[in-house]
Amino acid sequence: MHWADKYAEQIIRKKQKEKYVVESGISPSGIVHAGNFREIMTQDLVYRALIEKGVNAVHQFVFDDYDRFRKVPKGIPEKYSEYLGMPLSSVPDPWGCHPSYAEHYEEALMQELEKMGVITSVVRMTEEYKACRYSENVRAALEKRKQIIEILNKYRSEPHPENWMPTVIYCAKCGKEVHDQEYLGEFTIKYECKCGYSEEFDFRKKGIVKLKWRVDWPMRWAYYDVDFESSGKDHQAAGGSWDTGKRIAREVFGQDPPLGPMYEFIYLKGVKEKMSSSKGNVVSVSELLKYFEPSVLRYLYTMKINKALEVPLDQDILNAYNYFDEAENAFFSGEGDDNEKRRYSLAVIGRPKEKPIRVPFSVCVNMIQITLGDTDKAINILEGRTGHLKNASEEDKKRARERLGKAWAWVNELAPEQFRFQVLEKMPSVSVPEKEAKVLEKIAGMVEKGVDGTLIQEKIREYSEEEGASVREVFRNAYMLLLGRDRGPRLGPFLASLDPAFASARLKRKA
Ligand SMILES: [Zn+2]
Ligand SMILES: [Zn+2]
Repeated sequence: MHWADKYAEQIIRKKQKEKYVVESGISPSGIVHAGNFREIMTQDLVYRALIEKGVNAVHQFVFDDYDRFRKVPKGIPEKYSEYLGMPLSSVPDPWGCHPSYAEHYEEALMQELEKMGVITSVVRMTEEYKACRYSENVRAALEKRKQIIEILNKYRSEPHPENWMPTVIYCAKCGKEVHDQEYLGEFTIKYECKCGYSEEFDFRKKGIVKLKWRVDWPMRWAYYDVDFESSGKDHQAAGGSWDTGKRIAREVFGQDPPLGPMYEFIYLKGVKEKMSSSKGNVVSVSELLKYFEPSVLRYLYTMKINKALEVPLDQDILNAYNYFDEAENAFFSGEGDDNEKRRYSLAVIGRPKEKPIRVPFSVCVNMIQITLGDTDKAINILEGRTGHLKNASEEDKKRARERLGKAWAWVNELAPEQFRFQVLEKMPSVSVPEKEAKVLEKIAGMVEKGVDGTLIQEKIREYSEEEGASVREVFRNAYMLLLGRDRGPRLGPFLASLDPAFASARLKRKA
């Protein structure tokens, strides 16, 4: 059984509910790394599995935008240090295109969620806290702060002092975090800000209080009765926020913690340096989507979550596409590995009614180079000359177009040298030995007649034997004539996808 189905079953078995809650959360303080996206995807898959089991569920997506602006990141003007200590939702957008710093990153992520087919219900902590939604829970945390200190100190080398507070207060005058606060019982807090302002206020009426992360997280589990929330290694380390959160949930908020497995890291395979150099080490899902179809990327995220996920950006990207296509074949034929079929059905966005016609990524990589990035031309060749899109529907062609676009981006930006080529417009001067020249002439005859690429490939060997030529030399000369180098894509299919008149003339050294 796929892990998403296992978790869905465990969730349902644990308790009967009207609506199950799967939760993801991020602090919109920057671009979300593809690694953190694993949390969102893990939750999405469990959410899908729940829905498919016929229960009512929601994937609640929490923007922790009432979190404070902690440091000025690289690339943001230094004068932003004046906003340190304010909630992210109060810091202006450095690019000026959104009402706030938080919303700038929130929108970027929302777009990624949409592209990746992730359906969520968004909760913004600023709105909730400002509306004093959690005041009962804030009171519980304040009243039981000694217990909280004790739970947290168990894991701290430098213990929190007795007067430590679980709350962050944003000054009503200057908007920054205050450092001098006192709980006066019930719903009253007194504070004094560095700016000189001080007051006593009722936090049922004034939403300037927020719980600190380690208390805020379990508070949310309690308030929303969260059933599932996976998290990364950083939270799940011994004594991390997951460990302390479980105890705080039970002992402070009287809530059973959600099912919360750990997911492993994500690594980019092959070209890490290339992708991270200008971006300050952050590779987002948007960047990966330049090379991956969303469903293929989702398919990668359906692998076991307790294993490190390697996202291939080198030649293994060809395999990633192939595995997805194979899983799709298995799904529609009903044959093959059950787990693979399930991975496919969880991964694919807008599942097609019938098995689609897919053009292998490797074919796209070659085709788009033959047409120098012209997708329409490539589609025509795939439809007519090579037969990859024979009898294809409009939808199939649309999918092929998308894949050709990703292939073009990959070829131009990431592909290793051996995958890149350009058909020479002018014939280079290559002296072909007599026997090999005869073989090339015979091949040219086939190409001219529009013979299928696989058959051409087979015949190259046969003709070479007939003429007593070296097969290796035949290949080498053909590549030299066409590409000006001694290697290239599989020759038979490659020749079959070129313009027949051009290719045959070139093999005969006539054009
Ligand atoms: Zn903006
Ligand atoms: Zn102040």
